[in-house]
Amino acid sequence: MGLDVTWAVKWLTLSAQAMAEHRVELIELDRAIGDSDHGENMDRGFQAVLDKLAEAPPQTPGAALKLTAMTLMSKVGGAAGPLYGTAFLRAATSLGDASEIDPAAWAGALAAARDGIVARGKAESGDKTMVDAWTPAVDAARKAATDGNGDVLTVLVAAAEAAEAGAVATDPMVARKGRASYLGERSAGHRDPGAASSALILRAAVGAAA
Ligand code: ADP
Ligand code: MG
Ligand code: MG
Repeated sequence: MGLDVTWAVKWLTLSAQAMAEHRVELIELDRAIGDSDHGENMDRGFQAVLDKLAEAPPQTPGAALKLTAMTLMSKVGGAAGPLYGTAFLRAATSLGDASEIDPAAWAGALAAARDGIVARGKAESGDKTMVDAWTPAVDAARKAATDGNGDVLTVLVAAAEAAEAGAVATDPMVARKGRASYLGERSAGHRDPGAASSALILRAAVGAAA
């Protein structure tokens, strides 16, 4: 079974719920190494995505992700808005107008999203950014898509777990990109907020398929 537009809309809806539920936690993470707005930015952006989805229901997963990209770019602001906007736009392009997403297509969409984030923000692995959640997720999804039995849920779970571990792994890192890099060594000992929100979004993708 592939993932269809109903799954995509549920994913975005659960992502919006996760941003609302974890708003304060993301604000606190950004307070420690940034400017305290990440939870606010993401909650506002995904609430706007829900409004757009209701206004103009998309017909394909790619269209749902494109609408999300446009909305996040205009509503999130800061560093994360253009980065998530690019990620969702590249994922949408990768999916094209297909009506269903199979394991290889999901792994491909994640890779396209990650490549977009890297093209836009120029961060490398270990720089303590959202890339540290996305790259392990891409690697795990590709492996699960290649080794698996064709079950797309397995691939979603592999990506979410890897993103969560990747976010946790940012705790000891010293930030080399974004606002947190201004703190230098003092950025160590805190989780990167963008890596944390990325893991929440990839976990919502599992919930939408369960
Ligand atoms: P701002 O820092 O402008 O207030 P946010 O707080 O919304 O924006 O988002 C901060 C997050 O953006 C960081 O936690 C990090 O994950 C991500 N980020 C910042 N700069 C980059 C970059 N150059 N590449 C990748 N991710 C980045
Ligand atoms: Mg911030
Ligand atoms: Mg800011």
